[in-house]
Amino acid sequence: MQVSGKALVCDTIDQAGINSLKGAGMTVDYMPEITKDELILYAKEYDVIIVRSRTKITKEVINSASNTKIIARVGVGLDNIDLNAAESRNIRVINAAEAAINAVSELAIGHMISLARSIPYADAETKKGHWIKKELSGIELKGKYLGIVGVGNIGRNVARIAKALRMNLIGYDLYPINRDFVKEVGLIITDLDTLVESADFISCHVPLTQETKHMFSTQLFSKMKRTAYIINTSRGQIIDENALYHALSGRKIAGAALDVFEMEPPSNKMLIGLPNVICTPHIGSQTEEAQKLASIVIAEKIIQTLHDSG
Ligand code: NAD
Repeated sequence: MQVSGKALVCDTIDQAGINSLKGAGMTVDYMPEITKDELILYAKEYDVIIVRSRTKITKEVINSASNTKIIARVGVGLDNIDLNAAESRNIRVINAAEAAINAVSELAIGHMISLARSIPYADAETKKGHWIKKELSGIELKGKYLGIVGVGNIGRNVARIAKALRMNLIGYDLYPINRDFVKEVGLIITDLDTLVESADFISCHVPLTQETKHMFSTQLFSKMKRTAYIINTSRGQIIDENALYHALSGRKIAGAALDVFEMEPPSNKMLIGLPNVICTPHIGSQTEEAQKLASIVIAEKIIQTLHDSG
């Protein structure tokens, strides 16, 4: 399929997608370190603006993008794009939601195992020459209850992997969950409070919306078991970090593993400095496979959208 047009790539993306766009006849400018002011200056020259999460597509950027038809997010969340402003200017916003499913799911499971067996702490102490074997009595995942908050693409995949680890699954979602999937993994569907009260591990997979902002608050943490862990690989702002800090430092819950933070890089040094917190720097979709797939998927969608709009 051949199309014409100019695309501006504002963040680092895999070359495979850029090659696809060029192969289809597009001109592609790669500026992965473009500043906000440069973007505002150049935006009007492009039919397509491509971003990951670094670049913020604000109302100001959209107002300057007078010729832009598509804003493409090489990833899932669209919270770095002003969707209302894009809609008001008739700009299509597309993403590559499917590309990160496996990468994020595997990281969430990795975090869960790290919490259960204190792997980061064990590693650090062993390398320091401290043989702390007696201190490191962990727990097994088998037979534990995993509560999945947001049973969408990633939540479902996490459930499938956890099922293979012989965990029991509890799920909460705003919308009805596919019946075949529920049967497949034996998911117990509950409300949020019941999930939080019953789970040994909670894994968060909701998008950031007005409803999910600070969904995990002091009130919800107070309902968790003292032995329970929370894992967040969705968006930092769904957890009130101060409330999490108090829940963890007061030993009201056992631990947390965070890939995402209210501010990135994280500003809440008290929280990330706690011994019962494991952190990664928003690497959920940061695998070779996911990045390559995302760039290919987004290129295909751009080409199709431009083709369909003539
Ligand atoms: P998805 O849209 O397939 O699933 C989200 C689910 O959350 C849906 O089932 C939806 O109904 C549910 N939901 C929405 N609002 C809710 C609410 N208020 N209460 C309960 N459920 C609610 O999305 P996905 O592909 O599974 O991705 C989930 C999130 O993971 C993304 O929105 C993104 O923020 C995050 N993510 C993070 C990384 C990372 O690098 N850590 C990478 C990709 C995605």
